Amino acid sequence: ELYNKVLELKGNIRVFCRCRPLNMEEVAGGALMAVDFESSKDGELIIKANGAPKKVFKFDAVFSPQAEQADVFEDTAAFATSVLDGYNVCIFAYGQTGTGKTFTMEGTEEARGVNYRTLEELFRIISDRQRLFRYEISVSVLEVYNEQIRDLLVQGSQPGVTAKRLEVRQVAEGIHHVPGLVEAHVNNMNEVWDVLKTGSNARAVGATNANEHSSRSHWFVLLLSNTLKSSPGVFARAVDHGLVLTLASGPSQCSIHCVMVKGENLLNGECIRSKLWLVDLAGSERVAKTEVQGERLKETQNINRSLSALGDVISSLAMKNPHIPFRNSKLTHLLQDSLGGDSKTLMFVQISPNESDLSETLCSLNFASRVR
Ligand code: ADP
Ligand code: MG
Repeated sequence: ELYNKVLELKGNIRVFCRCRPLNMEEVAGGALMAVDFESSKDGELIIKANGAPKKVFKFDAVFSPQAEQADVFEDTAAFATSVLDGYNVCIFAYGQTGTGKTFTMEGTEEARGVNYRTLEELFRIISDRQRLFRYEISVSVLEVYNEQIRDLLVQGSQPGVTAKRLEVRQVAEGIHHVPGLVEAHVNNMNEVWDVLKTGSNARAVGATNANEHSSRSHWFVLLLSNTLKSSPGVFARAVDHGLVLTLASGPSQCSIHCVMVKGENLLNGECIRSKLWLVDLAGSERVAKTEVQGERLKETQNINRSLSALGDVISSLAMKNPHIPFRNSKLTHLLQDSLGGDSKTLMFVQISPNESDLSETLCSLNFASRVR
């Protein structure tokens, strides 16, 4: 209850800040910390420079380098319930390359991230609710690279090369989707995992350096859930629930996982459809124009364009502007029906604690302040 009130007050946008630990090389090199976690109160982040406090930022939650994946998920789990209740949800990770976007979203086998845990929570709730609701879930995995949408569940797809052109279309009043996108139906976590692996492998295909590629594209995972599989009649009158999840991150401009959920209340026949988007955004670091040329320059411009379009959309929503500029990038166009309205948005702002990264850290924190 309280949780929902908090979301309402904030226009349904929550911002969490997570700081990665110093790595071994940084520790060995005597790196200085730019964040003062000792003096920071709950939700506060104190930035220091030359040992003196410089600026204080406030967030819905702040996770220090000691925070575990489970701690982060504890504050994130409620979004899984929202999706199954019929809300569209977007969860993003934003920040400079190397700050832990992929770690937070995807995580590792030993330390699973938000994507995996959210899906796991989804299936847990579905099983809790099985007497009352029937759900059907499907997942899509896509990538936005140089303003082109690539379906990572299509075999043999290559970065920047798509067999068929995928575009965002309005498929019904207020509902946007990508016709032709592969939607893999999943019934349990094993099936989800297989789908994610397929997507993840496809992402690396054709990239000379997979890690490099992942920081330069946006990844999405879309899970679709649908409660109505076994009763076609009911299915036909189902109201769609869109749910999108982003599950992977990597060297593309953005990796996107979209989870679609369809649900039916078995008592009153009411149907829902929702989307959960899980988005591992491309690295937000600024690249000097003089340092890049050709393809790399085009990439950089497209990344800047989509990230600033995302910032513009979220800050227009936060300011309740009548016009929201969704059409300025593929990324925001894709997420159009899942940002604003009664959708719920969670943005992780990922930062480095190293004083030598301070100028990028301040850029990311200022970006996050714009959206609140
Ligand atoms: P990004 O996706 O933002 O480029 P990564 O997620 O790849 O960054 O993280 C960079 C490195 O830092 C990885 O080796 C990752 O395992 C490590 N890392 C990031 N955040 C954490 C954390 N909170 N705890 C431990 N290791 C982390
Ligand atoms: Mg990454």
